Amino acid sequence: MKRVVIKVGSHVLTENGTIAKTRMLALVELIVELKAHRYEVILVSSGAVSAGYTQLPLDRSIVANKQALAAIGQPYLLKMYQEQFSIFNLLCSQVLLSADVFDSKKHRDHAKNAIDTLLKNNVVPIINENDTVSIEELVFGDNDRLSAHVTHYFDASLLVILSDIDAFYDKDPNKYKDAKPRSFVNTIHNDELNAAHTPNNTFATGGIVTKLQSADFLMNHGREMFLASGFDLSNVKSFLLDGEHKGGTLFKV
Ligand code: ADP
Repeated sequence: MKRVVIKVGSHVLTENGTIAKTRMLALVELIVELKAHRYEVILVSSGAVSAGYTQLPLDRSIVANKQALAAIGQPYLLKMYQEQFSIFNLLCSQVLLSADVFDSKKHRDHAKNAIDTLLKNNVVPIINENDTVSIEELVFGDNDRLSAHVTHYFDASLLVILSDIDAFYDKDPNKYKDAKPRSFVNTIHNDELNAAHTPNNTFATGGIVTKLQSADFLMNHGREMFLASGFDLSNVKSFLLDGEHKGGTLFKV
């Protein structure tokens, strides 16, 4: 069994202010396929704020409103996941974590026991930040760094980040037409880790910098990260199911 964490950003899960059900179904199908290929899959899913906004359109520029929207949207999001997983007779589950869970060995051991038990029983854990008590990733990060901690501390070998961008480019592809995707990255420079943050839309809060920080953390801990498109899953499928690296960026020492 190979344990992987898949993180899906809010941009991928949202379409015109509502949850993009077709893309969610494609993601669920990917997880089902991976499980059939003897992968253990942990999902880290953003999208609670967007799901909440479809029910109550509060001003998202206010952090307390975002927390409230996450509280409204999280059960909605999980209900949609439950519906999609039930098509394949699979159970999913909700695990809400905050970054400080990982600061305490006792707490992260408790959390890992729960995750191990869910996986052993063929249940898909769906992790999100507990935004009503901890707003670090809600305000900044969009679960990128949380998913890196989940990967390391819950002992997965690989984090797959499914993003609105299909790879890490040698420069910002939105600004430079000649930006080229990189297939492999084995070191990340300090200036890249501290660069200005570049969230790409009103729901995304991370941008590429938090992805690089996550990759750096994982490479420093002997783990890998693969960044690929969440809109078109063909590259991530080739990579994980056929062992063919056609597109996307592998961060590996
Ligand atoms: P998501 O919410 O899908 O996880 P974000 O929108 O937060 O992703 O971050 C990805 C965005 O970062 C890209 O869409 C792109 O606009 C921006 N970006 C800036 N520099 C780069 C780069 N060198 N390579 C790839 N994307 C970059």
